[in-house]
Amino acid sequence: MQPQFLILGAGITGAALAHRLARQGAGVTILDAGLPASAASGRSFGWVNASFFLSDAHFHLRHAAMQAHQALAIELGLDPQPQGCLWYEETGVDFDHRHAALVRLGYPLRLLDRAAIAALEPHLANPPDRALFFPTEQAVDLVQLTGLLLAAATAGGGQLITGTPALALTEAQGKVTGIRTAQGAIVADQVILACGTGTPALLAPLGLRFAMLHRPGAIFRSQPVPPLLSHIIAAPAQELRQDAQGHLIAPASAAHQSESAETVANPTVLLADTLARLRGMFPRADIQPDRLILAERPVPGDGLPVIGPVLPGLSMAVMHSGATLAPHVANLLSAELLGQGKDPALTPFRPARFFA
Ligand SMILES: Cc1cc2nc3c(=O)[nH]c(=O)nc-3n(C[C@H](O)[C@H](O)[C@H](O)COP(=O)(O)OP(=O)(O)OC[C@H]3O[C@@H](n4cnc5c(N)ncnc54)[C@H](O)[C@@H]3O)c2cc1C
Repeated sequence: MQPQFLILGAGITGAALAHRLARQGAGVTILDAGLPASAASGRSFGWVNASFFLSDAHFHLRHAAMQAHQALAIELGLDPQPQGCLWYEETGVDFDHRHAALVRLGYPLRLLDRAAIAALEPHLANPPDRALFFPTEQAVDLVQLTGLLLAAATAGGGQLITGTPALALTEAQGKVTGIRTAQGAIVADQVILACGTGTPALLAPLGLRFAMLHRPGAIFRSQPVPPLLSHIIAAPAQELRQDAQGHLIAPASAAHQSESAETVANPTVLLADTLARLRGMFPRADIQPDRLILAERPVPGDGLPVIGPVLPGLSMAVMHSGATLAPHVANLLSAELLGQGKDPALTPFRPARFFA
């Protein structure tokens, strides 16, 4: 008989894992304190990339995840064509170093001059002298993707429970046996924590201290505008993309993936500053604000993803860059949970480094 899996968290990580497990015939329940994609996954910039990375192993995990996104898009009947990214976030020697590092790692890229940049993004005022073009990078709508994954998982026999916080993990004879909720207990052969910033509170009663960084973020969303840009833009002061509905989506801080601020500035100021930067980039467009979306990023203490077994009966998958990593992590972790083998690509990202 297939083991019963209980996934805590219906963001992109939990949804991708539930989908993979259900596709292989496993019994899956996915439980969320709120609604699917209501935490980080519903408030993300959604940039799928490996041009930001913290180590070679992190790069390779991210790069494989980009390919997993392509395969998943085809599987789900979505457009698999990435829009690509124009990157000139760093300048001078920092630009050269990033360029050299990505060439060394074999990342698909082209070095573009100002004319080529202007040809790709004709509405952009003051295109830079040079940029890297990453043709395989893309942005994903995580709310849509999470919804599709959950729909496929439940159509395949999985059960989705929303509005139900897991209050505590239950244990017997050294093994995690399930959870306690206000509505009663749920037992499972294996519980998987995919609950982002909710993870430390569930681990603490087991004597496991899981340190996470406090990394609040803010995303600016404009009212819809006619087609203005075709690629993700990573400029020194501003990252930006336009979604399928015409909204401009823009982190309110530059280089948001490596942001280390523990607080966000006054939302009114953030909104006004971001709006001013966007209007400076596209002076002929009528850009009006829609809203500023505040969020807490789920960032483990060392910034790297945390994936795999914690205790008998308990695993975890907690990460920033989950927009990028989730489909690949779901492939690797589901194989592991179903006894199909452990992938050495996960070795640097094991939970044991926190709990040794
Ligand atoms: C502003 C911002 C910008 C970002 N930009 C990017 C980007 O460009 N590229 C990229 O790759 N990543 C980006 N990220 C990160 C990415 O969005 C996250 O890593 C990803 O969404 C995490 O997904 P998750 O499913 O692991 O967690 P979440 O989406 O946070 O979901 C966790 C779920 O667990 C539930 N939960 C918590 N505690 C409990 C409990 N006790 N019981 C039951 N349920 C519980 C919550 O309700 C929530 O729904 C960004 C994040 C933010 C906030």
